Amino acid sequence: MAKPGDLLRVLRPKSVNGLLRLYAKNPDALLFAGGTERATRLKPDSVSAESKIVIYLGKVEELSRIRRSQRYLEIGSCLPISRIVSIGRHILPEALSTALRSIANPAVRNLATLGGNICAAIPNNDSIAPLYAIDGQLEIRSLSGSRWVPISRFFPGAGETVLKEGEILFRIRIPLEEWDYQVFRKVSGSHICSHPLLNFCGLARFSKGILETVRFALGGLNNTVFRSLELESRLEGKTLPLSEKEVESLLAGADELLEPLTDSSFSAAYKRATGLRLLRWFIENIHRENR
Ligand SMILES: Cc1cc2nc3c(=O)[nH]c(=O)nc-3n(C[C@H](O)[C@H](O)[C@H](O)COP(=O)(O)OP(=O)(O)OC[C@H]3O[C@@H](n4cnc5c(N)ncnc54)[C@H](O)[C@@H]3O)c2cc1C
Repeated sequence: MAKPGDLLRVLRPKSVNGLLRLYAKNPDALLFAGGTERATRLKPDSVSAESKIVIYLGKVEELSRIRRSQRYLEIGSCLPISRIVSIGRHILPEALSTALRSIANPAVRNLATLGGNICAAIPNNDSIAPLYAIDGQLEIRSLSGSRWVPISRFFPGAGETVLKEGEILFRIRIPLEEWDYQVFRKVSGSHICSHPLLNFCGLARFSKGILETVRFALGGLNNTVFRSLELESRLEGKTLPLSEKEVESLLAGADELLEPLTDSSFSAAYKRATGLRLLRWFIENIHRENR
């Protein structure tokens, strides 16, 4: 364990195999991608508890690849967000693209990576709610092999991921489905900082005035992301526009399921009211989109 004043040793592997070997040998090493999350949220008292070895991921070419197949876009975990947005123009689901473009500012987006946004394990980071709604999948690699995990199972508890010793996030798989309506909205705590308080992603597909598929996810209420397959399925098959009774019944169902927590800045009651407003706004916009 490092002591304050110890010099940091920075390792810069150039291949995934090299990285995994180094990480297996130094399981306490700190993985460093863009460094923007660590720079802003690292608690000073946690520095001494961390390893004096840093593994910089930015030289591993395989982690910065992006690949498109007919059904998926696969994004290397260390591709900077600005590159994902520019390469993924017209390909990325619009809600995810809007979320990525809302992160910080261009200078931060040139460094920040999607893998870092996910692995920081802060469920209201802006990529997370869209990844929940589009059913994103994550490939995890270690020296012993590879496994795929849906994003909905990646965060087992507050500030935790399912990554085990020696495992890294290798790439993110984005299903390329057609949506008739996609929205992303975030509510920030202050005008100075773009870090979100709550964020919301909603997707809908309809045909001939009938809602076929609806998905929505809400981040920031508590230590996880809210998504309810049961509420989504209640809307499917409904004729547009939804009646007032249908809208109110859905919101009442959501009100029962939401479990907001008070944090240092906002009360649970405020988060609940804001989350329900975002959901109402989404449902009302589906009405407009179908006109
Ligand atoms: C001024 C400012 C404004 C910001 N505004 C926003 C905002 O509006 N919305 C938002 O969501 N975020 C915001 N952020 C946070 C930040 O930019 C993002 O979370 C960023 O995407 C993190 O990526 P990174 O590459 O910098 O991660 P890093 O800081 O390098 O890493 C973050 C964590 O993930 C781990 N990690 C990284 N890559 C991997 C991997 N491949 N496998 C396993 N573990 C890994 C690291 O060890 C670390 O624990 C802001 C940051 C700043 C500085």
